[in-house]
Amino acid sequence: MAEKRDELRRFVVTPLATNCYAYLSAGECLVVDPGGSGAEVAARLGEARVACVAATHGHGDHVGGVAALCRATGAPFAIHAADAELARHAGEMSEVGRSYDDNAPAPDRTLAEGDVLRVGTATFTVMETPGHTPGGVTLVGGGSAEGVAFVGDTLFPGSHGRTDLKGGDEATIMASLARMAAEIAPETTLFCGHGPATTMARELATNPFLR
Ligand SMILES: [Zn+2]
Repeated sequence: MAEKRDELRRFVVTPLATNCYAYLSAGECLVVDPGGSGAEVAARLGEARVACVAATHGHGDHVGGVAALCRATGAPFAIHAADAELARHAGEMSEVGRSYDDNAPAPDRTLAEGDVLRVGTATFTVMETPGHTPGGVTLVGGGSAEGVAFVGDTLFPGSHGRTDLKGGDEATIMASLARMAAEIAPETTLFCGHGPATTMARELATNPFLR
């Protein structure tokens, strides 16, 4: 019997056009970075059981929709412990003068290096990639999600996330990018927190921060 293929959906949310991703596999779903419109995202996931709502980091534009999404689906929320406090203020005015839908709840589960999130026949392994924020993570796909990685705001095509916000650090993000370059397979598609996706091979060839 042919197995139903996994599906990746992207929802662009918040005034900052944040990418919220839903990875669907075998009737389950992992939602990454619901920065806003949590109830709307929930309504568009159909029958899939939301196994987990995970944040790549705690900035409001990535977690402002967590509360509504978790309320609508009953799913647990997961984030690195170092960014949990940041996420709990998503609905309040930030240092750049913006606020998002709601403060995120306290995490039901914290994410640390090597932790594995399971959704259907897919796995996502946590790689700690701090620098944009102290608790930034990359979720590296395995199983039926081999070749997929959610990189948040750590890496963008030809660039990297800003390090001038509270908790950001240039040397730290450079170390994270070096790790990603060494440990993520070149054929992997990198799904970024904003804008288009890229591949590790393309970034190795063109991104000046990966050298
Ligand atoms: Zn960010």
